[in-house]
Amino acid sequence: MTPPETGLTAPLSLRPDLDFVDRLTALAGDSFTRCYQCGTCSAVCPFAFQGTSLPRQEMLLAQWGLKDELLSSSNLWLCTTCGNCARLCPREVDIPGTIRAARELYLLDRTLTPELATAFENTSRHGNPFGLSARKRTDWTAGAGVEVPVLSRLGRPVEVLLFTECYWSYHPRGQAAAQAMARLLTRLGVDWAILGVEEQCVADSQRLAGETGIFEEAAAANIAALGKYQFDRLVTPDPHAYNAFRNLYPALGGRYAVQHYTQFLAERLGELPLHPAAERRATFHDPCYLGRHNGEYEAPRQLLQAIPGLTLVEMGHCRAEGYCCGGGGGAIWNSAFAKDHVDERLAEVRVREAAGTGADTLAVCCPFEVSLFEDAVKSTGNDGKLAVRDIVELLDEALGSA
Ligand code: SF4
Ligand code: SF4
Repeated sequence: MTPPETGLTAPLSLRPDLDFVDRLTALAGDSFTRCYQCGTCSAVCPFAFQGTSLPRQEMLLAQWGLKDELLSSSNLWLCTTCGNCARLCPREVDIPGTIRAARELYLLDRTLTPELATAFENTSRHGNPFGLSARKRTDWTAGAGVEVPVLSRLGRPVEVLLFTECYWSYHPRGQAAAQAMARLLTRLGVDWAILGVEEQCVADSQRLAGETGIFEEAAAANIAALGKYQFDRLVTPDPHAYNAFRNLYPALGGRYAVQHYTQFLAERLGELPLHPAAERRATFHDPCYLGRHNGEYEAPRQLLQAIPGLTLVEMGHCRAEGYCCGGGGGAIWNSAFAKDHVDERLAEVRVREAAGTGADTLAVCCPFEVSLFEDAVKSTGNDGKLAVRDIVELLDEALGSA
């Protein structure tokens, strides 16, 4: 029988790898097979204006089983797993989950960027992405100006365990925020403590960058350390840690009453004697893993609105429509890669939007964001015009203890 005339002059070059589709489905579920290429996701992706076709193209490559094309796409590593796409997808495709799973398969036999490889290696060997000694995890406490209790020395249950995570423990700008939090907790009379050197990176960002093994090892270590002590609630400044404790640790055996620090402080707002400090016109950046992924939009705003002398102005992209800082999903450690593939970093786009509101302060409540945005303030020419402050630093300032 003569085959029908197709009009094709060259053979189709599609090489669907059905084993790859099966492995992707095992890790991410099969929601990507429902994608019908409407393009809604690509229209709202923060990379929409960078000439990428993220993530519609990647969902198509996944659906068609085009393993090499998907795994060699630079989009795979640009995505910050911010979730803005999935929020509007009419077919409820788990886009960040599919991207994360493709990264996990990428890691099996392909080479990572040096930055990301170093962050993974450091987390695995030292329990933090900086590669600093575990013994230095409590160095920040020396500059707090108040006593910082450590659970292993207290030898009794506490009301609040402050799980500081790596940026508040090691990064100079994070340490300033941790010290402010210590002063606030002390002023509130909270019975609190930290895990200290027993704490390890929660590694949620490493997981989102495909490193499930590091995440699970870190979770086992943290759950074992936390299991030695009694506390009523676990409070953390890191939205990624909050996400992991809230959504992932229970399945691994770690069940805690967990709050982001803004949620905890918002409950105690009436007890904080806040005084007029600097007159500020502030705008607030919603962290993707506090807002969009976990639904908390009010607590940070309640804190900001309670600060005397501070006027809150919103950016166009806010709350569920917030614009990613560019640091999520492991991208915080892949900045050289992003720089090579986009005209302007997401943090720079966001800083321009913040400056456009007329604000003099960009308020944040994710430890990644302070240094990311401070760099972007400089590179966009806004140095001296826009200050980046963690909300806890603004509260500390209004307490007069900074
Ligand atoms: S919004 Fe959903 S259905 Fe539409 S292209 Fe994106 S992934 Fe596919
Ligand atoms: S998760 Fe965010 S960065 Fe990734 S494809 Fe979706 S909208 Fe784009």
